[in-house]
Amino acid sequence: MIVMKFGGTSVGSADAFAQVAAIVADKAAEQAQTPRPGVAVVTSAMSGVTNLLIDAAQRAANGDEEFFLEAENALRVKHQTVAGQLIDDGNERAALGRIFDERLQEFTRLCSSIAVLGELTKRGLDVVSGLGERLAAPLLAAVLRARGVPAEYIDATEIVVTDAVFGGAAPQIEPTEARCRARLLPLLEQGTVPVITGFIGATAEGIPTTLGRGGSDYSGAIIGAVLEADEIQIWTDVNGVMSADPRIVPNARSLRQLSYEEVAELAYYGAKVLHPKTVTPAIEKQIPLRVLNTFQPEHPGTRIAERSDHTGGTVKAITSIRGMNLITVAGRGMIGVPGIAARTFQAVAGVGANVLMISQSSSEQSICFVVPEGSADTVIDALRAEFKVERERRYIDEIGGHGNVAIIAVVGSGMRGTPGLAAGIFRAVGNEAINVIAIAQGSSEANVSLVVEETQAAEAVRAIHDIFELHKPSGERSSQLQRAGGIDRT
Ligand code: ASP
Ligand code: MG
Repeated sequence: MIVMKFGGTSVGSADAFAQVAAIVADKAAEQAQTPRPGVAVVTSAMSGVTNLLIDAAQRAANGDEEFFLEAENALRVKHQTVAGQLIDDGNERAALGRIFDERLQEFTRLCSSIAVLGELTKRGLDVVSGLGERLAAPLLAAVLRARGVPAEYIDATEIVVTDAVFGGAAPQIEPTEARCRARLLPLLEQGTVPVITGFIGATAEGIPTTLGRGGSDYSGAIIGAVLEADEIQIWTDVNGVMSADPRIVPNARSLRQLSYEEVAELAYYGAKVLHPKTVTPAIEKQIPLRVLNTFQPEHPGTRIAERSDHTGGTVKAITSIRGMNLITVAGRGMIGVPGIAARTFQAVAGVGANVLMISQSSSEQSICFVVPEGSADTVIDALRAEFKVERERRYIDEIGGHGNVAIIAVVGSGMRGTPGLAAGIFRAVGNEAINVIAIAQGSSEANVSLVVEETQAAEAVRAIHDIFELHKPSGERSSQLQRAGGIDRT
């Protein structure tokens, strides 16, 4: 039994819908031969739709009473076009037309009242932004039926129970599990494909929520976990997870395997892969995830599981995250004084800033850490206030930020205990005369991070990618590099 989640571009046009239907039909047939047959589908909204819905609601709140009417029209055309091209049966088309009308009426009613009130609550925004999935899922179910695959549309507000944190709700696993199993297992047993809305859920009282932007992956993982799927497939428009951003490193490769740990590290440091939250339900149930390309379905993509294959070497992928600020708290008087670090991070937490990386010099004369540029000023002010006395006494003589830096994260579980890796990384950046401003190694040893000037970030990524020969299939990388982790380039 597998769960297949399709993202916005996978259902972005009539052609894409047809492609998805073909993929699901194949999988359903293949699965029918297995001891635990069944395919459940989770879908995002058509690409661009969620943004349009949010935009319309926000403009309505600012008094614009025209835009949402135009949006309604655009949404109707967008979905009707797909139905018109892929569904011949008159009854099916009429039934879909009624669903579209109902949803779009809900949309204009909501936007009108938002415009009247002049206010958009998070709760209201969740209802509006979730409409895209509630248009796309019934459409995909009908497209599957038109292709001869028995399918039934399911609204996730019936089966995914969440807390009431609008705009980023968390699932409540027990009731979700009970409802999903009760509703979906009978369908799966009779060979019907449930087509479920991604991104949305509802509280136990039935108030609609969303799981946060990009939340359909999370939906796929939650549903896969509670159904104990054999695999959760994330269908997107690229060939899985890459060794680096191909816009920065043109010869980056698609990775065959990653561990949960590696994918979480990559996502944390800005790689546009699965959100770390997505993998949690899969990890808990040890269910492998697979990232696949809807537009190149024969490509094996990336498999993500508990353990990845380390025979391919130590470093798996490199990512960079820009727009950061490196904040330093330094002073001779800090040596041996307990509590400085605790007070530093308490002050940072007090202003709600997100710390991406920490490094302390062994002499204890300084602590530095990286926060997004946008929160740097607030953090510095908070620290200066916290250490007012220490600054007057000159125990601490520097609290300041270094703006426009980027974190380069080098990720791979196989880096653990491999000597010489750091040397390889520094040789790579040193060869390019890139100045390393700070370094940190994750305690998991699955990641080494460097801070460099933002203007040198792309070059740093390319240099490290190059020295570890990540552009080559793992079997073809030089053996010395595999052993020594990239110290030797000969
Ligand atoms: N449609 C939602 C969004 O755009 C959820 C998703 O695509 O995963 O954020
Ligand atoms: Mg998406």
